[in-house]
Amino acid sequence: MTEHTLTVAGVAVDTRHWIGGERIASSETFTDVSPIDGSTLGEISRGTATEAAAAVAAAKAAFPGWAATARAERARILHAIADGVDKRIEDLAIVETHDNAALLRSHRRGVMPRVAHNFRFFADWLLKLEHEEFETRGHTNHVSWDPAGPCVLITPWNAPLMLATWKIAPALAAGNTVILKPAEWTPLTASLLADIAAEAGLPAGVLNVVQGYGAEAGNALVSHPDVRRISFTGSVPTAKAIGAASAANLVPTSFELGGKSPLLVFADADLDLAVDLAVEQYDNAGQVCLAATRILVEESIADEFTKRFAQKAATLKQGDPRDESTDLGPNIHPRQLEKIDGFVQRALAAGARAVIGGAPNTDLGGLYYRPTLLTDVAQDSEVVQEEVFGPVLTLQTFVTEQEAVTLANDTRFGLAATLATGDHERAERVTAQLVAGTVWVNCFFVRDLQAPFGGSRQSGVGREGGTWSFDFYCDLKNTVTAPKGWQNHG
Ligand code: NAD
Repeated sequence: MTEHTLTVAGVAVDTRHWIGGERIASSETFTDVSPIDGSTLGEISRGTATEAAAAVAAAKAAFPGWAATARAERARILHAIADGVDKRIEDLAIVETHDNAALLRSHRRGVMPRVAHNFRFFADWLLKLEHEEFETRGHTNHVSWDPAGPCVLITPWNAPLMLATWKIAPALAAGNTVILKPAEWTPLTASLLADIAAEAGLPAGVLNVVQGYGAEAGNALVSHPDVRRISFTGSVPTAKAIGAASAANLVPTSFELGGKSPLLVFADADLDLAVDLAVEQYDNAGQVCLAATRILVEESIADEFTKRFAQKAATLKQGDPRDESTDLGPNIHPRQLEKIDGFVQRALAAGARAVIGGAPNTDLGGLYYRPTLLTDVAQDSEVVQEEVFGPVLTLQTFVTEQEAVTLANDTRFGLAATLATGDHERAERVTAQLVAGTVWVNCFFVRDLQAPFGGSRQSGVGREGGTWSFDFYCDLKNTVTAPKGWQNHG
């Protein structure tokens, strides 16, 4: 152990940046605290404009070599990273759980395998990516996917390594170099990934990790003139700040932002399924961008739905996220808990009724908030319009299908929507009218990485996934070649 290493449940994590294939410490640090019990995990290097510039310079220097590396070799190294992730799933899972308090069992069985899959998927997709050709008056138009250059990737704390690698993998596959800035509340697994990537043979400078605060390290990175792409997942206000900074250099940005997604439950739905889908929205203590936090139920079944929902939600076990039997862990930070409770108390003061929950879980203490369902909420009220990012759902009723669609679309977001209905034609009709990047019919969260992912309105700008990721991370080039012996007569 050195002064730059911390240990989490026996797993050593380097607390420094990873720049140009070297560990670099900053003179200042910030404290990483576990939301599980408020314990200090360690002191992390606090990046500034100096480290940001060093990381961009390293990424710029490594770019020509990596861009010129054959696709098959890039794919081989990405597969080796995936293998390295697989070997360390247990380490990654335990460290991530201590850092962001999401369930250990989800990290073990869902999230970390998906991290490995991100690398394998984009490595394989790269090999399938066609260089298209068109012909014009005997001339060949050859379209190539050229890598763009250094990419800055900025990620949030709610699914740190999964969201980071969803960007890192296609950016690297495309032949770009990367500077990742993880969220300051969850810096640890990014550091482990740097180790894994180096062991897998990724050349120095191709992946860099700068730790630190958004306004400091993050802002310096997104403002840097040598950056060629910025992909950001996080909140709307931060996206606006990044958009303003990137506009100065005209750097293309991809934004995956928040949501206030609806779950529409029609009277013809399988009610047990609809209740299951609704209760699932408490996953990760409600800290899921895609969560369908606005339940819209057809009036004729609203009482029965609400009764069954409350019964099912009462079976959720809230507790330590390291315990295999826990369903709901704590929230991320005292500030987040305060924010969640603020939304709920203002809603209650305005006349909402808490069917369940409505307060922090004082039996458990710490950062646990009781799963909450609020009824009697107005469509234009804060709790219906704004993202709470905690275990707080609202329930409203509708009478007609058109009313359901109108309520569903009536926020400034458009990330996702979920429908529970037994009528296939209704599903098609309603889906066609919903403003959402993803619509789930009688299911939730299932998604193929080949499909586009992103949000409409203020839920995002652009789409990533499959070829859409390469569209973003590449500079497309059309090379027009004249036929042999062709004379240009104007
Ligand atoms: P946030 O916007 O506060 O922070 C996200 C990241 O941006 C962090 O790494 C932070 O350090 C950095 N940052 C902050 N200010 C910056 C600046 N000026 N310049 C550069 N970087 C800066 O968001 P959060 O609270 O960490 O995450 C929660 C939000 O993320 C929610 O709104 C959630 O819906 C959204 N989210 C969206 C998706 C999606 O795929 N659409 C997925 C997960 C989370």
